[in-house]
Amino acid sequence: PARATPPPQERDEHEHLNLVFIGHVDAGKSTFCGQILYQTGQVDARTIEKYEKDAKEKNRDSWFLAFIMDTNEEERARGKTIEVGRAHFETTSKRYTILDAPGHKNYVPNMIAGACQADVGVLVISARKGEFETGFDRGGQTREHALLAKTLGVRMLVIVINKMDDPTVEWSQARFEECRDKLTPFLKTCGYNTKKDVVFIPISAYTAGNIMKRVPETAPWWDGPCFLETLDSLPTCERNRTAALRLPILSKYKDLGTVVEGKVEQGTVSVGDKLCIMPNRTPVEVLNVWLDQDEVSYLVGGENARVKLKDVSDDDIQAGYLLCPRGAAACPAVRKFEAQLAIVELLDHKSIFSAGYTAVLHVHAAAEECSVMRLTASIDKKTGARSKKAPMFVKSGAVITCIIELEQPVCCETFEVCPQLGRFTLRDEGRTIGIGKILGFVPDE
Ligand code: GDP
Repeated sequence: PARATPPPQERDEHEHLNLVFIGHVDAGKSTFCGQILYQTGQVDARTIEKYEKDAKEKNRDSWFLAFIMDTNEEERARGKTIEVGRAHFETTSKRYTILDAPGHKNYVPNMIAGACQADVGVLVISARKGEFETGFDRGGQTREHALLAKTLGVRMLVIVINKMDDPTVEWSQARFEECRDKLTPFLKTCGYNTKKDVVFIPISAYTAGNIMKRVPETAPWWDGPCFLETLDSLPTCERNRTAALRLPILSKYKDLGTVVEGKVEQGTVSVGDKLCIMPNRTPVEVLNVWLDQDEVSYLVGGENARVKLKDVSDDDIQAGYLLCPRGAAACPAVRKFEAQLAIVELLDHKSIFSAGYTAVLHVHAAAEECSVMRLTASIDKKTGARSKKAPMFVKSGAVITCIIELEQPVCCETFEVCPQLGRFTLRDEGRTIGIGKILGFVPDE
């Protein structure tokens, strides 16, 4: 029997933004998230006291903020700070969700899960002497995260230069500018418009400097906004409500029925909708819909969804499947397509990219083995012109078009129809070797 549920709440029309925190290990992501939740009143005083005590006992005083993120089941049941790896906070003008909260035990360090739902990436950089350099080196995560975020659809990047309080930094304007100026050219090569899509701000996650409040005493040279002012002033997102629903499934669980989670990439999902799950065409019906913790009657493009489904076992659902309308408006499930691909950085021992290359393709929440069937053209990076002759092979840095075949069909769209479902990364041995967009589908022979 269906469980009695409270009536859906009126929709909160407060603008809502999804954030993903990225950056090299030890840059201060957990401390920063903990500090934001603390400063915005999401953590009660008793919990804070407990964390402070725990941290002291473990001789890690400064780590208590990171502990906030590391709640266990029991603590999660008491408060509502963190739920399935997500944290929420509000300002007077917007509601925010921190996806895949750093420090939380389910945090996915390669950050693909969070980034494919995020509107805004917060790239945390340590300004501490030596640490900035390590994070930015070959093999450091700063570069790869910035690049992935862009491919996965993050529109804006807020770059926080953290640890400004550190004794090796002392809120030095010169150090801030050095970090900013070293990052800027690289961000341009990732495709960010560094004048429009990227903001830099100095902060101290540890002392809370320039997070909620500006710090004119310690950094008189900084006349820009603090972190929360920056978030509140970001331009609003376009929500494509009228297009056919596309809801890639990121995770699922059982709770008196089957609940799926993901981000509505386009369209609207409402209670009572008769939909299907692709690529298997499993017909389902929507029982309940939640926006964060609040039950609502519908969700629109751009929002994080939690949807309870009727008529489906959770065994029939996998991450990377997609919820969409039945019939003609269903999402295509595709095995072969032509793509434009930028070869970012090939592995040292596999430094040639040609027909036969195999890798793992990541598109929205799906990951699938694939192989390159043939290269079809090379693209001039300056003019965008397509060569008449197809190259036999290329090396790192090249931009090409090629035909890619997947082992199993995956739900996707061409980049032109829906950019979020039409951009992908190619990974090999855990490294991102290419980023691409789908130009067109190739029918099976
Ligand atoms: P994560 O791996 O990016 O989540 O980094 P953590 O939040 O765990 O922080 C790594 C280390 O850097 C810890 O020892 C923190 O106390 C320290 N740390 C983080 N933020 C700051 C800061 O603003 N100033 C200083 N001095 N140390 C910080």
